[in-house]
Amino acid sequence: MKPKHAQVHFNENGTPVADHFDDVYFSNDSGIDETQHVFIEGNDLHQRWTSWNKPNFIIAETGFGTGLNFLVVMREFNAFRQANPQHPLKHLYFLTTEKFPLPKKDIEQALSSFPSLGAQASALTKVYPMGLDGCHRLHFEDYATTLDLWIGDVHQLLPQWHSPEDGLVDAWFLDGFAPSKNPDMWTDTLFSQMARLSKDGTSFGTFTAAGIVKRGLASVGFTIKKRPGFGRKRDMLTGSFNANVNNDTPTTEMSEHNSIASESLKTIKSKLRKPEGPYYRYNTAPLCSSSNVVVVGSGLAAATVCLALTKRGVSVTLCFDGDTLAQGASGNPQGGFYPQLHSEASIASRLQAHSFLYARRYYDGIFAAVEDSDTAASRKDASSSNTHDFCGVVQLSFNDKVETRQTKLINNDVWPPELIRHINSKELSDIAGLTLPYEGLYIPSGGWLSPPTLVNDIVDSASATGLLTLKPNHIFERCNKTSEAGETEVVFKSGKRIYADHVVLALGAGAVHSEAFEGLPLRPVRGQVEAIPTQSPIASLKTVLCHKGYMTPAMDGRHALGSTYVKDDLNVEPREEETQQNLSTHEQALAHTDIVSQLNHDNAARAATRLGSPDHQPVVGALHNFTALKPDYADLAIGKPLNQVKTLPNGNVSTLSCLGSRGLTTAPLMAEVLVSSLLQEPLPLNNDLLNAVNTSRFMVREAIRGNM
Ligand code: SAM
Repeated sequence: MKPKHAQVHFNENGTPVADHFDDVYFSNDSGIDETQHVFIEGNDLHQRWTSWNKPNFIIAETGFGTGLNFLVVMREFNAFRQANPQHPLKHLYFLTTEKFPLPKKDIEQALSSFPSLGAQASALTKVYPMGLDGCHRLHFEDYATTLDLWIGDVHQLLPQWHSPEDGLVDAWFLDGFAPSKNPDMWTDTLFSQMARLSKDGTSFGTFTAAGIVKRGLASVGFTIKKRPGFGRKRDMLTGSFNANVNNDTPTTEMSEHNSIASESLKTIKSKLRKPEGPYYRYNTAPLCSSSNVVVVGSGLAAATVCLALTKRGVSVTLCFDGDTLAQGASGNPQGGFYPQLHSEASIASRLQAHSFLYARRYYDGIFAAVEDSDTAASRKDASSSNTHDFCGVVQLSFNDKVETRQTKLINNDVWPPELIRHINSKELSDIAGLTLPYEGLYIPSGGWLSPPTLVNDIVDSASATGLLTLKPNHIFERCNKTSEAGETEVVFKSGKRIYADHVVLALGAGAVHSEAFEGLPLRPVRGQVEAIPTQSPIASLKTVLCHKGYMTPAMDGRHALGSTYVKDDLNVEPREEETQQNLSTHEQALAHTDIVSQLNHDNAARAATRLGSPDHQPVVGALHNFTALKPDYADLAIGKPLNQVKTLPNGNVSTLSCLGSRGLTTAPLMAEVLVSSLLQEPLPLNNDLLNAVNTSRFMVREAIRGNM
């Protein structure tokens, strides 16, 4: 999970050189001109953008390095957008892989040679992520560009990219050190994956003209052209993918290294184009910016979906049951914000880690954007203190079992220390602002937020696009499909109906028995959190303290102290016995201190219910009647491979739910996954993680077990 960072030095021209590969990151002659020549002109981007009639253009690169290619193409795309504001092409996606990420300081030094890219470079370095394998989605809204920086080996990553049936990528930037210096990268696996992910007509440009590259690309269906190379390089290659070659004879120019050389192009393509990893695709009827979507829900899930949709130009009607937002599970005044990490890079942990890093960038963006807005300012005036604090989170090692677990987590060395690290009791006490005789783990970018304020800030941001309509007092009853391809009717308890191209249900636990969730094994979970008046000594608490429960620093004179967990309970009245349970959880965990035993408690508490799933992961994607669909997947029980069973139908209703008590961490990324899938954009998660959150996973698991 933790990649090796690149070791670089800077040569006499100031060009970064990778020690391990003994090769430069870009031409000594002029990095920017090389990018223009090889990748931008090599892919004929200006001409293709001008004639493009879709909203997105998707570039994929091997070898992100210093980000120079990315910055140059982002600048060019922005200039194109400025010059053509009415053009149908609105957004650039740049997907890139990097096995050995450069430390930020080296990126800064490398890019300092290009003052003309100063603004773009500082936008990148501001959000450049820590080294953690997987996808880091970075938004550059001022440039109408999204960067998916996939950390890891290109050979492992490309098979993990979710691809629509007709391909994902529009242009390839084949970078990576020279084949002679980095032969491991230029392999059949790479070329095969390029074919899997390419559309008919997808182009490529590469600085090299090496035979192995030429033959490898030709063998999977790319036409190849030689062009004059940049600077001292005589030749380079460009070309495009032909998805429909019907030639069933083996291609001629193959090397002995090409294991697929003896197969015909037709066979190769039919093999490659079958989805390898996922057993379902994210199937929803595709939306576009002129679609109208109804989102039902009042919490963080609904708010993040609204913002992700409206930012893409989609009109949204947000329907919620109360007078105001965040009345349900997102209504707790304070919530801890941190990832739940295990000692292994399990699916659950990776989801948490990536969701957390994305959420932190997202919240930084939200707070920066609303800082000056009138509504946010007036809310701030009305409140006596901050409504969030990224003050870090400390996980106390409060008994032997926890100590063993924490030691294993650190020794396994899967997580970067910037994300989580061990601290001794002295450091822990300094960070906490309280004397605590425990060691522990420290998550410096975590902290606490006030979910209701956050939900309102996010909805304000969505409203600022002019595309959001709020409909309070709309209690959801059901969805009726009006026709296969047509609109969906959303029916409310009052009898009122609203029609939409697509409906997203981000409902609370009250909707657990709704027929929209037919076939999903969801259940309500009740949680009660105490609001303890601030007092000595906890008044000096400066960080979120976690053990079996958690305690936050004070907001408005009160600390959150939580939480209980009661399955299948929809009651939201605070209960004395749960107050006692919360207090005793703290007393037991903090038994070596006197900070809890003397706590003054005035019975202020709030209980809420959430929707939960049996595997504790979010539920994201299209809703179907899964009970009715299950027979179509019966062959899974007799061992038929997942990629050979029936594809799921398209859906007009989808959900983002079951964020459980981890919504602050998971909501922004899960909303991004859902909305990207609705608009058929690249998805910011590995296929195995997408499968782990997809709505159909329960039905597929049941079918595999033969539980019909
Ligand atoms: N495009 C880069 C830029 O704009 O700065 C320069 C790329 S540099 C020539 C090649 C990059 O490929 C290096 O950053 C290297 O770490 C990366 N790389 C090499 N082998 C790789 C692999 N197997 N998977 C992913 N990245 C790889």
